[in-house]
Amino acid sequence: MKIAVIGTGYVGLVTGTCLAETGNEVTCVDIVEEKVERMRAGEMPIYEPGLDLLFHRNIEQERLTFTTNLAEAIASAKVIFLALPTPPGADGSADLSYVLGAAKDIAKIITEYKVIVTKSTVPVGTDKVTAVMKANTDIPFAVVSNPEFLREGVAVEDFMKPDRVVIGTLDEEARQIMGDLYAPYVRQGNPILFMDERSSELTKYAANSFLATKITFMNEIANMCELVGADVDMVRKGVGADDRIGKRFLFPGVGYGGSCFPKDVQALAKSAEENKYDFKILNSVMEVNETQKKRLVVKLREYYGQDGLKGKKFALWGLAFKPETDDIREAPALYIIDELLAEGANVIAYDPEGMPNVKKLLGDKISYSKDRYSALDGADALLIVTEWPVFRTPDFDFMKERLNAPVIFDGRNLYDLDKMRNLGFYYSSIGRKVVNN
Ligand code: NAD
Repeated sequence: MKIAVIGTGYVGLVTGTCLAETGNEVTCVDIVEEKVERMRAGEMPIYEPGLDLLFHRNIEQERLTFTTNLAEAIASAKVIFLALPTPPGADGSADLSYVLGAAKDIAKIITEYKVIVTKSTVPVGTDKVTAVMKANTDIPFAVVSNPEFLREGVAVEDFMKPDRVVIGTLDEEARQIMGDLYAPYVRQGNPILFMDERSSELTKYAANSFLATKITFMNEIANMCELVGADVDMVRKGVGADDRIGKRFLFPGVGYGGSCFPKDVQALAKSAEENKYDFKILNSVMEVNETQKKRLVVKLREYYGQDGLKGKKFALWGLAFKPETDDIREAPALYIIDELLAEGANVIAYDPEGMPNVKKLLGDKISYSKDRYSALDGADALLIVTEWPVFRTPDFDFMKERLNAPVIFDGRNLYDLDKMRNLGFYYSSIGRKVVNN
């Protein structure tokens, strides 16, 4: 099938590449010329494990091409995916201007039936896309809601073997086309769930908001554990063994971040408000998460007491909002850095993939380290913010030699408490007893 994908970010590029991998001819469109040039030259614009292999293979076999020219991309495409940003607007609701702008441009160009697929996360709004299309063309078309559930870091696997595919349309022809397109990805029997557009759109927000709530609930349990002397690792295992709750998404930490959870929770709350519904849980989730992002700084303040943080040097392991990505959007690390700088501390950071993006944002407000150990030289303490695998089994003796003091604040609970006690560290983590040697 001939396909166009508009927007080549984390979702668009994975979607385009994975659709090419099953034999479709895919043209990806982006407005950023330099990005398109780089992709044409075979350069991946993002870090996403496993994507490069498929990207290069499909470019070589001419099933995956890139352009800035929308008309050229959609001329022969039967299906047009919109994988455009839907950032939070000034009032917290999703900004639909990218999606609606593209819909208008597409409507003005098409000359035959097309299926327009909204992959971007949009609040109950495909009827807005339909309205914009209708206002600009008499050619028949179908608008389909097909929210994306991929996780950055494992996006290729998620796309190639999705837990489910959600397709929101009542248009019979579009339903058939979408079913055929996704059939290769659900051969193990995972469902393609056909539904109406509104239910499909709300499914995406409900899924992300539920996950954000689950994490936030565990973060509050962790805070309780600290107060009553319980161990959140034990509690987590105890509750996770219950099938109704499940083991996943129960790890406490320094709050959720990324380009999806914060904005999607906010947009659903806003959507509820617009519908005169007070979605109390979501408002609490957002409030708790704001506090949780700064939890490590609170612990630092308690530890240093009167001395304060001014003039202290902190090593930070992890900048990306989660491991296996270079995405730093809404990353808790950025909030922690802000607080530390505001209190006059110095920060030296290391992240396997996130540093170039943070450099663009913060420049020389902080220092950057070439590897995990160099960051420790002369630092008063280490803060662990992202659970990259490379941080899990470091050489602790070597770390002690390089740090000014053997002090670790771990926002991801990477290490065993007894081990840290035996090694002679001061070790403060989330929802567990402080190891105070
Ligand atoms: P992104 O910011 O990484 O990428 C968007 C791309 O669109 C950029 O390359 C940008 O240059 C391009 N673009 C902007 N305007 C354009 C235009 N008029 N024509 C062509 N290209 C244009 O965004 P993303 O993370 O891929 O997210 C896209 C959508 O998917 C959002 O609605 C998001 O909520 C949703 N989503 C994201 C994820 C994720 O993990 N990132 C997962 C599921 C759903």
